[in-house]
This record gives sequence, structure tokens and C-alpha cells, in this order.
Amino acid sequence: MSRALFDLTGQLALVTGSSQGIGFALAKGLAEAGAKVVLNGRDAAKLEAARAAIPGAVIAPFDVTDHAAVEAGIGAIEAAHGPLHILVANAGIMRRVPSVEMPPETWREVLGTNLDGVWYCCQAAGKRMVARGAGKIITICSVQSELGRPTIAPYAASKGALRMLTRTLCAEWAKSGVNVNGVAPGYYDTELTSALVNNAEFTDWLCKRVPAGRWGKVEELVGATVFLAAPASNFVHGQLIYVDGGMTAVV
Ligand code: NDP
Repeated sequence: MSRALFDLTGQLALVTGSSQGIGFALAKGLAEAGAKVVLNGRDAAKLEAARAAIPGAVIAPFDVTDHAAVEAGIGAIEAAHGPLHILVANAGIMRRVPSVEMPPETWREVLGTNLDGVWYCCQAAGKRMVARGAGKIITICSVQSELGRPTIAPYAASKGALRMLTRTLCAEWAKSGVNVNGVAPGYYDTELTSALVNNAEFTDWLCKRVPAGRWGKVEELVGATVFLAAPASNFVHGQLIYVDGGMTAVV
């Protein structure tokens, strides 16, 4: 009985930005829970390599910052594979520049991917889910949905905005059987954080700052994501689950 609560057999899941890093780990985890997964990113060659590592996975290359491409991409996924049950809006980028020097194009680039891109995917998938009366949407947020940090103004602004996008979509779509929730990772060793991973001073600070005393492993995000994608979370709406080694719980 309780296993069925976490069973994704027969579910179709799109994970954006899943050719590597957190998105790839989440796609693999959803597949292991039974879902058929659709991998997304801009680089088709990278996606092919990822697909080979996940049994039954298919790929859908498109750029989440391109509204028409998102609409066409999600339409094509449904035409080929049937209704989309789960969206993990994960694709995101980081640019580190002090705010006094931040060029407007860097600001737009980060907001364009991390906020506009998530919104386009949520709308394209969500309107179809609302029409069918069922669906699970998971936004990949961050501890920066809650905490500021120098040099990452557009990133923190985008992740803070995702918290309110998640809540607003909950306000609109919960009654239509669509769950919109977020997973908020702490610090994980991926390409996005490689500059910090390779910085001994930062790692030393992080391990003192995080109660768990270490970097996260991407596989550690799978449990919360499967929960939010599965029947177990059917009455959970508008929440962010922080998977951060305790970072946001303490000063
Ligand atoms: P990576 O840089 O390792 O991976 C990012 C993925 O997104 C790649 O597959 C990339 O593929 C894809 N991507 C980037 N831009 C686009 C685009 N415009 N359209 C489609 N796909 C795109 O990042 P992480 O795995 O570390 O991060 C994933 C998410 O997790 C992000 O939202 C990030 O903010 C969040 N996060 C990460 C944390 C960490 O510690 N790593 C902590 C908190 C949150 P390609 O370049 O081929 O398009």
C-alpha cells in the first residue's frame, strides 16, 4: 500500500535541463520509480549520451527561454508519447558578477532562463494538465529562494520569484487536481557550482555553515522529487521542500 504511494509506473515525466547535474539525477530517479522520462536541454549530443544511461528515456531538445519552442516542444512530446503527468522545471544557469558591474544582458540572461523559462514550461504543461484535471509540477528552486548572497543578484531574484510563482500557480490550479510545489536544493557539486567546489576557502566555509557539514550529493534530491511527483503528495500544494543539509534552518 505505502509503496503504491510512491509508484510512478505509467507516468510520463519531462525534466528540463536534464543532460547533466541535478536534472539528470532527478530524471534517473523518476525512471527508477517507474516513470517514462523525457530529457531536455539545448545540446542534442549531450542529451543522447544521457538518454543512453536511462532505460526507456526519450529526448526533446529545446531552449526553455524560447516561448514558441517550449510550446512546440511540449505539444510534440504529448503527440508522440501521450499526456504529460509530471513536469520538473529544472533548467537554470548561474552568473557571478558584483552588482555594481552587472551588465543588463547578464541580468536578462539569468532571468530569461531561471524565471521566464520556468514560467513558459509551467504554463505550457500546466494548461494541458488543468484541462485534464491532473498533474504534478515541481519547480527547482534554491536556498537562494530564501537567502541572499553577494554577486548573484539575478540568480537570487529569479529563485525568490520561483517561490511566489509556485504559490500563485497553486492558488490557481490546486482545485483542478494539479499539484505545484518546489524542491529547494542547498549546495550540490555540479558544473553550475564548480567554481565554488574548487575553492577550498568556500568549501571550508560551507562545511561550517551547513549543519550536515558537507556538500550535497545530487542523488539526495531524488526522494523529495519522487514524493512531489507521486500520489503520496496529492494534498501537498504550494510548498517548497528544502533539501539543504539544514542550511536554511540555522544562522
Ligand atoms: P548544470 O549547469 O549542471 O545543468 C544545467 C542543465 O540545464 C544542463 O542540462 C543544461 O543543458 C540545461 N540548460 C541550461 N540552459 C537551458 C536552456 N535555456 N534550455 C534548456 N536547457 C537548458 O546545473 P545544476 O544541475 O547544478 O542545476 C540545475 C538546477 O538546480 C538549476 O535550476 C539550479 O539553479 C538549481 N540548483 C542547483 C544547485 C547546485 O548546488 N548545483 C543549488 C540550488 C539550485 P544545455 O546547456 O545543453 O542546454
